[in-house]
Amino acid sequence: MKEKTIQNSISCSGIGLHSGRKIQMTLRPAGKGQGIAFVRKDMGDAVIPADAAHVVPSSLATILKSGKATVQTVEHLMAAISALEIDNLMIELDGPELPALDGSAFPFVALFQKAGVVEQKKDRAFIEILKPMTLTDHGKSVAVLPASSFEVKCQISFDHPVIGEQTYQYWHSRQAFIGELASARTFGFLKDAAALQSKGLALGVSLDNAIVIDETNILNEGGLRYSDEFVRHKVLDLIGDFTLLGAPILGCVEAVCSGHKLHAEMIQVMMKNKKSWRMVTASESRASATVFKSGLQALPATASF
Ligand SMILES: [Zn+2]
Repeated sequence: MKEKTIQNSISCSGIGLHSGRKIQMTLRPAGKGQGIAFVRKDMGDAVIPADAAHVVPSSLATILKSGKATVQTVEHLMAAISALEIDNLMIELDGPELPALDGSAFPFVALFQKAGVVEQKKDRAFIEILKPMTLTDHGKSVAVLPASSFEVKCQISFDHPVIGEQTYQYWHSRQAFIGELASARTFGFLKDAAALQSKGLALGVSLDNAIVIDETNILNEGGLRYSDEFVRHKVLDLIGDFTLLGAPILGCVEAVCSGHKLHAEMIQVMMKNKKSWRMVTASESRASATVFKSGLQALPATASF
């Protein structure tokens, strides 16, 4: 398996979920081995690498920081990057946040589809989990365990009639992501809106980019896209967050009521426990016989969906 980038640059614009600002985003190809990086065009082209060293633990959105430059709400784009197996990409922004678009990852998948995805002349590296790592925090937990492919087991529990307890088990691939997760939207409770907005958060949230829930009902006219859209979105968020490790995981992530902050903390634990995983190419992996020869094929030079 080889590294990949996009074939052509592509742009879009939209409102930032938290900042409420209109943001222009341009995705550009990047060379092999360069990784994923954000560029703040409004801050003298400040570069913010999308990697473990630049993650700031935060509850409501995933934030990256380099010097004075930050970028937030990167998780939905990062999840689409993971699903399309993109390793090298430059993401230019003229503000501090990603455009929310429809609150899911699907518009980002569609952008990559339009741009095209191409292979590069470098073997793709993977993070193979060797030993379990677990983090717990007041009934929330996230564990990273050895497994032959990237899979996620997620459980959420909200004391609310439209959500309640939901679980989801997911095996990661481009097809599975597009079919099962990409369209699942972010969600929030109307009762929290005033408090968040007084802190300068959720200023861009609307029924066009989030599922909004009052005391008993979903306010969006069209209802849900999946009956368990909430837990599917949490899996999508988790995939986006763990993409900040800088290489895809060969392992299972089990999450119970976890969120961006606990994911960021786990990424930092993983960076400190380098004996619990190793970097491998597909052919070096213990999983190579079962995974790479059957399930995960390389994309054609120009992907279609
Ligand atoms: Zn999200």
